[in-house]
Amino acid sequence: MFLHMDNKVALVTGGGSGIGRASALAFANAGAKVVVADINVDGGEETVQMIHEARGEAIFIRTDVSQAADVATMVTQAVKTFGHIDCAHNNAGISGGSAPTAECSEENWDRVISINLKGIWLSMKYEIRQMLEQGGGVIVNSSSVAGLVGTRRVPAYVASKHGIIGLTKTAALEYARQNIRVNAVCPGVIHTPMIAQFTGGNAQIMEEFAEEEPLGRMGEPEEIAAAVLWLCSDAASFVTGHAMVVDGGRTAQ
Ligand code: NAD
Repeated sequence: MFLHMDNKVALVTGGGSGIGRASALAFANAGAKVVVADINVDGGEETVQMIHEARGEAIFIRTDVSQAADVATMVTQAVKTFGHIDCAHNNAGISGGSAPTAECSEENWDRVISINLKGIWLSMKYEIRQMLEQGGGVIVNSSSVAGLVGTRRVPAYVASKHGIIGLTKTAALEYARQNIRVNAVCPGVIHTPMIAQFTGGNAQIMEEFAEEEPLGRMGEPEEIAAAVLWLCSDAASFVTGHAMVVDGGRTAQ
């Protein structure tokens, strides 16, 4: 699949690792100028370096998506550098700790909701203001299959990912007439540092995850990036308010 993104500017939060890095590289490969935003400076700068090595254009902006001032600066800096933001992949997120609902700490709840849910709202808030000014744009928010079904032991994560789908649909309705499309992507289990961290790198648990997938394997970050790029492209011009599942058939069971 090759989608042309020439003359487009794409912003990716959480672009320093996993799915966000794959998405940033895919945008760059399609010809877009890329703004990589992440709280992790080393990871973000490494993604930018990878894009530069492939002769693409990119900048890194250190951003904590849970902080309004950071997100406002992220958008201002992106526009100052590249002039506009055509596509935004709001992807930064954490899994948080693992414990059932009655054992989930208030601290874990607040941290996960603040990064995963408030972070998406703040990102959309400032991106949409810019997109209204420039006459349009496209947003894709990273939800999860945990935004569609319950998952044991990660109540805050599940609540945040369900919330992202509600926010996505709401913004899609609010700004449809202003040429702004807003969609979500719902990955299944994807082979990234987040999953390695969540499973404690335990090969047996990783194998079990893969075994649970109808396709018999975990997804790769590039397979999510492909969906994000399509949703951002003109090929998806009639798609808005949609939560696209890319999960190897996991939620079809
Ligand atoms: P990852 O841990 O590899 O990457 C997440 C990135 O987000 C990291 O670079 C991290 O530094 C950044 N980040 C964390 N907190 C941040 C903050 N406050 N501000 C800015 N950046 C921050 O994880 P991943 O697997 O690539 O996940 C990316 C997104 O996809 C997440 O929202 C995750 O919930 C979602 N997702 C992942 C999977 C999976 O199986 N890997 C499945 C469904 C959904």
